Amino acid sequence: MPEARLLLARYVVPVRPRGVVLEDHAVLMEGGKITSILPANEAVVRHPDATPERFDHHVLLPGLINMHTHSPMSLLRGYADDLALETWLRDHIWPAEQRWLSPEFVADGTRLAVAEMIRCGTTCFNDMYFFPDVTASVVEEVGLRACIGLPIIEFPTAWARDFEAYIAKALQVHDALRGCALVSTALAPHAAYTVTDDMLARVAELSATLELPVHIHLLEIAWEARHSLQEYGMGPLQRLLDVGLLNERLIAVHMAHLQDEDIRLLAESGVNVVHCPESNLKLASGFCRVADLLAAGVNVALGTDGAASNNDLDLLAELRTAALLAKGVAADPCALSAGEALELVTINAAQALGLGETLGSIEVGKQADLCAVDLDRPQSQPVHHVISQLVYAATSAQVSDVWVGGRRLLEGGALTALDLPQVIERAECWRQRMVG
Ligand SMILES: [Zn+2]
Repeated sequence: MPEARLLLARYVVPVRPRGVVLEDHAVLMEGGKITSILPANEAVVRHPDATPERFDHHVLLPGLINMHTHSPMSLLRGYADDLALETWLRDHIWPAEQRWLSPEFVADGTRLAVAEMIRCGTTCFNDMYFFPDVTASVVEEVGLRACIGLPIIEFPTAWARDFEAYIAKALQVHDALRGCALVSTALAPHAAYTVTDDMLARVAELSATLELPVHIHLLEIAWEARHSLQEYGMGPLQRLLDVGLLNERLIAVHMAHLQDEDIRLLAESGVNVVHCPESNLKLASGFCRVADLLAAGVNVALGTDGAASNNDLDLLAELRTAALLAKGVAADPCALSAGEALELVTINAAQALGLGETLGSIEVGKQADLCAVDLDRPQSQPVHHVISQLVYAATSAQVSDVWVGGRRLLEGGALTALDLPQVIERAECWRQRMVG
């Protein structure tokens, strides 16, 4: 019999059904899954053999899912700031990557990223970067969950020299990770402006055959649509529609330049949108119409983007930014309630990954991916509304415990599967190397 553990919490926010807060409830975890959710006093009587753990001042919620990041780029945090996206990318980030990109860079950057993400309550992330095999092995070693993007871009990098090599390597990594419990894969063409029509068509075909999500930056800056019209005689959405990529497997990141007809098209085709408010604000990219997308029935999730453009991977902080910004953009204080906002980092994210049946809410039969937030702090008192406190007032420093598949990765604020001083030392080594 697998060991059963009973988490007794002051509050449980299961996310499904929406807005529900269970007081003094327990979550039973067995074999990595949630097997029961019941009142705490009843739980200790019915499950005397389970190991109880008390979270008397905490709210227990599903582990947060970061739907867009480039984890190894944590080593480029603060490397080039206060610049326009094109200058930032072409004159700073891409040259730095040409110089420093290696399996060692990716391993050290990923460790730094996952250390930060776990401490912020993140249990799963959707990544896009080179050497995805290295990112996957760090994720497995630490015990986190991730969807690893298999990168495709039109220029050569240390990972692959041309399109055929990108595809061959993508398939190799995909095959090697097949059947892995913690890691899944997605095809990750960088953006409509860095991938040709032929490449997009091949991606669409592979996505359909292998049933893989497609993770792409889309409509991030105003320039993108103008460039697409000049080069291809149509906008980026039309190009993706023509090659068969606008469907429920598409994870379209940013979407900061949407017209009404675009929103209708996205709703009809079942495309998932990932909003990255802090990266969009920092690069002055534009504003995603989150409330309009949700009202049209589009599935919207949230991502931090990489630490080079955010500059942190704090999804709880991102959630507050998203909740506030959605109201400002819609000019409506009722837009995106706290309960709806919480869904962007939980159930909506799980659905975007095609994992809505196993992740994203506290329900019997789902994976025991959970996080506990300590509300016994001045900024979270008094607790009139638990979900309000989480979305509008809590900080990630209040995240005390994190479990992935029932395994505890954060215990009382301490990482259990990573040597934090060593991770930080490696980051400093890279800084020294980069300044020469
Ligand atoms: Zn990005």
